[in-house]
Amino acid sequence: FEEHLKEDEQSLCWWKRNKHRVTKKVSEELNTKMSIFTGDITSLEIDAIANAANESLLGGGGVDGAIHAAAGPLLRSECELLNGCSAGNAKISLGYKLPAKYVLHTVGPRGEKPDVLRSCYKNSLKLLKENKLRSVAFPCISTGIFGYPNEKAAKVALETIREFLETDEYGKDVDRVIMCLFLKKDVEIYREQMQMFFPVD
Ligand code: ADP
Repeated sequence: FEEHLKEDEQSLCWWKRNKHRVTKKVSEELNTKMSIFTGDITSLEIDAIANAANESLLGGGGVDGAIHAAAGPLLRSECELLNGCSAGNAKISLGYKLPAKYVLHTVGPRGEKPDVLRSCYKNSLKLLKENKLRSVAFPCISTGIFGYPNEKAAKVALETIREFLETDEYGKDVDRVIMCLFLKKDVEIYREQMQMFFPVD
C-alpha cells in the first residue's frame, strides 16, 4: 500500500512509523479486523457495544439515551448497582433487549483530553478481554455533547485500538472491532484515518 500513499500521508501512517513493532504478516491480519459501520449502534448484533455514558451511568442524551431506550428498563436497574463511573473508566452490563450481549459503559472527557479519551478505549478493551468477548463496536466517544473535536478524537480512537490489537496478548483473540459512525463528518474523517491506522489494499 505504501506506493499508493502520497509522501505526506506516508509520514502519518501509523503502521509505517511503528513497523519495527510487528511483522508485516501480523500487521496485515489485524488491519482486516477493524471496520467502520455507519448507522445506529443499537442495531448491532455483536458481543459488546460501548456506550458513551456519563458519570452517573443512569442514562442521558445522545447515544446513551438511544442505548437505554433500546435495551429497556432492566439496563437502568443494573446500572443503578454499578455505583457510577469516573471519566476514562469503563463498567460492563448485560445488553437486555439489545441484540448486543453486553454494554461497556465508558465515560469520555468533557473537551479535548487525549489521555482520558485513550483510557476510555483502553479500559473498554480491557473489559472485552476480562470477559473473553471477541467483538465490539464503539461510538465516537465524547464527540457529541462532550465536545471533543471529531478528527482529533478519531486519531486517538484508532491509534488506541491499533495499539491494543498489536501489543496486548488478547489482541489475537479479538475477531472484530467496529467504529460505529452516526454523522457524515465522521464518515469522511474515518474513511481517511482508516488508511493511516488500518491500511488495506
Ligand atoms: P458524548 O457525551 O460522549 O459526547 P454523545 O452521545 O453526545 O456522547 O455523542 C457521541 C457520538 O455518538 C456522536 O457522534 C453522536 O452523533 C453519536 N450517536 C448518537 N446516537 C447514536 C446511535 N444511536 N448510534 C451510534 N452513534 C450515535
